[in-house]
Amino acid sequence: MMSVDLLSTPIEYLKGVGPKRGELFKKEFNIRTYSDLLHYYPYRHVDKSKIYKISEITSEGAFVQFKGKVTSYEIVGKQRGRRLVARFADETGSIELVWFNSIKWIEELLQQRREFIIFGKPTLFNRKWNMTHPEMIDPQTHHDSLFSLHFQPLYNSSEKAKKGGLDTKNISKIVLSLLTQIKDVIPETLPDEMMESLRLMTRKEALISIHYPENNEKLSKAITRLKFDELFFTQLKLLKMKLINSQRVKGHLFSTIGDIFNTFYHHHLSFELTNAQKKVIREIRTDMGSGKQMNRLLQGDVGSGKTITALLLMLIAIDNGFQSCLMAPTEILAQQHFESISKQLSAMNVTVEFLSGSTKTAKRREIFEKLESGEIDILIGTHALIEKEVVFKNLGLVVIDEQHRFGVEQRAKLWRKNSTPPHVLVMTATPIPRTLAMTVYGDLDLSVIDELPKGRKPIVTRHFFEKDRLKLFGFLKKQISEGRQVFVVYPLIEESEKTDLFALMAGYDLMSEVFPLPQYAIGLVHGKMKSEEKDYEMQRFIKNETQILLSTTVIEVGIDVPNASVMVIENAERFGLSQLHQLRGRVGRGAEQSYCILMSGNKLTSESKQRLSAMVNTNDGFEIANIDLRLRGPGDIQGTQQSGMLDFKIADLIKDERMVAYTRKLAQTTLQEDPDLSLEKNRRIANYLKEIMRKSAYWGMIS
Ligand code: ADP
Ligand code: MG
Repeated sequence: MMSVDLLSTPIEYLKGVGPKRGELFKKEFNIRTYSDLLHYYPYRHVDKSKIYKISEITSEGAFVQFKGKVTSYEIVGKQRGRRLVARFADETGSIELVWFNSIKWIEELLQQRREFIIFGKPTLFNRKWNMTHPEMIDPQTHHDSLFSLHFQPLYNSSEKAKKGGLDTKNISKIVLSLLTQIKDVIPETLPDEMMESLRLMTRKEALISIHYPENNEKLSKAITRLKFDELFFTQLKLLKMKLINSQRVKGHLFSTIGDIFNTFYHHHLSFELTNAQKKVIREIRTDMGSGKQMNRLLQGDVGSGKTITALLLMLIAIDNGFQSCLMAPTEILAQQHFESISKQLSAMNVTVEFLSGSTKTAKRREIFEKLESGEIDILIGTHALIEKEVVFKNLGLVVIDEQHRFGVEQRAKLWRKNSTPPHVLVMTATPIPRTLAMTVYGDLDLSVIDELPKGRKPIVTRHFFEKDRLKLFGFLKKQISEGRQVFVVYPLIEESEKTDLFALMAGYDLMSEVFPLPQYAIGLVHGKMKSEEKDYEMQRFIKNETQILLSTTVIEVGIDVPNASVMVIENAERFGLSQLHQLRGRVGRGAEQSYCILMSGNKLTSESKQRLSAMVNTNDGFEIANIDLRLRGPGDIQGTQQSGMLDFKIADLIKDERMVAYTRKLAQTTLQEDPDLSLEKNRRIANYLKEIMRKSAYWGMIS
């Protein structure tokens, strides 16, 4: 008890802090308590205590010093890739040094002298150690720093904080005084046994060493231990929530497949389902027939046919006397789902309605009534569906399309729509790599449609520059003369950004000249338009009254125009990779050969080059997702931002992939053996988990 109290002491009571700096800690770093500061880890350390031998490097992370000689150097690469590469050796080995900046200066330095003490962070690249932009110290003048300094933690600060006296130096002093005060009350979170068998350092030692390590080895063990805690307890939390759901929360039992499903399947389905679709329907049907409440993620690349899969599942719900709803992230997409589903069900006795923010009051009232009386079988709409006043008679299944726009919170709201929570199916076209899925959607089960409908030709993707624009126009004319339609998409980073709208309008003017009336008709859609206007333009395109549709990314998600076979993306370098892939997925839905043309300027960063070439080289969504992840890190992947599952201080879902998998397994076996964590040996785990769960967004949902 003691320990908890001391750790939750408000930060201003700490020596050297006081009310003013306390306020700064809160505002600038969100540090409120002793414990928060304890978990404010330095971003790196300066180790000037020792000169290492090159052969001693075993881990990345810390900055070190070597003493030796530059044996050779050369300048390689061109333009942005230009760099000076040198080989640096001591008597035990050698390491590569790289400079991208100040090349000239370094070259002059190397012409004067070859003996140095170098200081920097060794990293492993292609299995070889190298160091970028090391500090080059003259051994003659070095004596000072050689003996005086130890491992110094460096902390992120901000301009405001620095002004208020919280620069990295002061923070490190304050942390030191914190550590002296609390070092004996840092609670352990793992059983001794587990720490021993996994050779993990104690939590106390780790939390001290992460700030003030005695040496590199201790630092690296501290990092490992703290990463382990983060990942292990995240997995435990997720699995525990899943367990609680399945134990406490009973689900609707969909026991039969009845007339409605069968009639539709045998008489109104205009194509044969892919094996992947069939497999997924079987999987989900079993789940919904188990008596447990289903929470499932359905992944399938763009165009894999998720909608029809969802529709069939909704029909099963109706067969069992339940209503369902389908929620889409945009009005246009919701509208399209509504129209296509109404059409497909037109010969059947199923009532489908549409609800969005723009539904008129009278209509709204009518819908609410019919929902409560159970007259409506399927309600399709936008997030208006999760509003409080939308009350169902017996909601059995909720389908959420293109999940990346919906967060955990919204999912939780849906749960409360019924005394028995409905089954929830979340559909996404963003293929999330396994380690990430495990964590971001760790509380969901996973189904994957890993096959496209037959007869789809792979989309041909080309990267064009401004000089190819005439060629592009010629190509578009040819396609249109063959009866095809064309999307042209302009980037829009912020819906309010004037320049983006300007680019779109300029594009519209140019296109109107090149593709004049009456031979051609061009449509225009952007975020500033009213939804009726947008809708009108979209409908014109869907009906093939316009051959070219210019738009901002409002068409990014989901809409289906099989006759459109060309996707032109302007300023493609400004789009993220998964966004590009989503956009490309708008074509290639009919039987014709489809094309995606990426237009870009000539000046490209190496990252945007990699993005565009990934697009040209592959159509595979999973491959794209993996490349995206490597390029950007998990925080930016769509769907992960809102998840709230990625606030890792120290672990990295990509770099620590193996530890993610390992801790997941360990969490599984731990809970299998001791689901309530009531065994004595798991006491520490149980205590810490309780503390974490108390803070969790999910808590309100399950308690
Ligand atoms: P997404 O998974 O991207 O949401 P959709 O559900 O919009 O894909 O399906 C894309 C198109 O493929 C739609 O026109 C749909 O009717 C069609 N489709 C779906 N399944 C099949 C299938 N098994 N065979 C042929 N066409 C299919
Ligand atoms: Mg879709």
